[in-house]
Amino acid sequence: MNGNPDLLIGGAWAHAADGGLREIVNPADGTVVATVDEATPDDARSAVAAARAAFDDGAWVATPVAERAALLVRIADLLERDKEELAHLETVDTGKTLVESRIDIDDVISVFRYYASLVVGQADRLIDVGDPAVLSRVVREPIGVCVLIAPWNYPLLQMSWKVAPALAAGCTMVVKPSEVTPLSTIAFARSAQEAGVPAGVLNLVQGSGAVLGAALTDTPDVDFISFTGGLATGKTIARVAAEHVTKVAVELGGKNPHIVFADADWASSVDQVLTGVFLHSGQVCSAGTRLIVEESIADDFVAELARRAELIRVGPGLDPASETGPLVSEAHRAKVEAYVELGISEGAKLVTGGVRPSDPALAAGSFFLPTIFDNCDRSMRIVREETFGPILTVERFSTEAEAIRLGNDTEYGLAAGVRTADPARGERMVRALRHGTVWLNDFGYYTAAAEWGGFKKSGNGRELGPTGLAEYQEIKHIWHNTAPKPAEWFKSV
Ligand code: NAD
Repeated sequence: MNGNPDLLIGGAWAHAADGGLREIVNPADGTVVATVDEATPDDARSAVAAARAAFDDGAWVATPVAERAALLVRIADLLERDKEELAHLETVDTGKTLVESRIDIDDVISVFRYYASLVVGQADRLIDVGDPAVLSRVVREPIGVCVLIAPWNYPLLQMSWKVAPALAAGCTMVVKPSEVTPLSTIAFARSAQEAGVPAGVLNLVQGSGAVLGAALTDTPDVDFISFTGGLATGKTIARVAAEHVTKVAVELGGKNPHIVFADADWASSVDQVLTGVFLHSGQVCSAGTRLIVEESIADDFVAELARRAELIRVGPGLDPASETGPLVSEAHRAKVEAYVELGISEGAKLVTGGVRPSDPALAAGSFFLPTIFDNCDRSMRIVREETFGPILTVERFSTEAEAIRLGNDTEYGLAAGVRTADPARGERMVRALRHGTVWLNDFGYYTAAAEWGGFKKSGNGRELGPTGLAEYQEIKHIWHNTAPKPAEWFKSV
């Protein structure tokens, strides 16, 4: 049996009902960094029941909004206090560098602070119905019991985009981190409890999505499912939820174009195309994996990218010298390697990378070198599918219209980048691209105050910003007649 229990159900920490455990592996060296409880479907059902009971009990829902906001601030303060420890957990769990993990935790903290301030500023909407005796108002109420499911690439960050607005809105919840990377979410749940989140309001189960999925989603006891992860899983959850008419938000994958015109600033374009795709070894939903570059500069631009890609220091995330870490697991590296083989067989030209690093010191980790394929086109699966690894594909264009057509020629629509020195063209491009976030002469940035989410198969909800709170709220119209009088109709009755 594991030492500390890792499941939080109804305010009590518990081991898995069947004593099941899972080893958590550091992808930088293959060592086991923790052993955590692996929930059973019965544990998941208990967690949903605890969240249901805590919601139906009414005490949390009735908590004044200022108190809920103060709780969010206390959570943010505790995360600030534990930032280094959380960043360390994120690095040994995902493989990303400590620099990246620290940025993630800073962003988590800012999300809690943002929703604390947003929710206290929300006001009811008063409607003048033309009768001074009638008070008509539209109010927001918590949507209810939420199931919050997160992926492994940004474990606590993605979870915080759900938990912070859910708490702010007055919902109760079951959180399920990815089974590959649960450590920071388990630590977070302890902080939430320390901050004073009432029993049953936040429940945590962790384990295989395939095993726990039905218990968490195929139930009339859940009012909202917010899921971030892959397209196939998102479709499964949406299908299951439809049976109960449960509201679902799915934040899915991306195959994001980064469009570079010949007049773009050269140095920042090279830098940001590289960081846009190779940060976190490409395991980023909004990674700019498709370079779409103007023909007249393409050869020189790709040559410079390749030269610089070969200088990127790949290594363990805990080593301050590393600029990017390993892939999250051996299994995931195998998928990325299969895409490289596929790209070669599809006729793309391998410019650099495509292999594991030769350094024997990295042999025990699931590292893979930054990889660039030139001469790519939309007939190739490596251009159409999310490889979720450090693979950049290069397509070329000659006209603005062609750049727009290529940029939109994807079933996804999460994010896109445009680089040009011509502001008018830039504005035309950002409006023409059908993606949820479009960066002009920048790449990868976001803020808690602006919505994040995808067009098309990248998803159907929005996180962050005011819409990210509205997802967790029901709208109610209250019509209060302070001076009731006989109705106009049925006078003979
Ligand atoms: P995944 O779909 O394999 O798993 C995501 C989560 O769903 C995990 O917690 C998993 O255990 C759980 N799960 C799996 N099957 C389930 C089921 N049947 N029912 C309920 N839950 C289930 O995704 P992943 O490999 O962890 O993450 C990578 C994917 O996430 C990529 O496609 C990436 O683009 C996407 N992502 C999207 C965003 C965004 O903002 N749109 C952000 C980060 C990651």
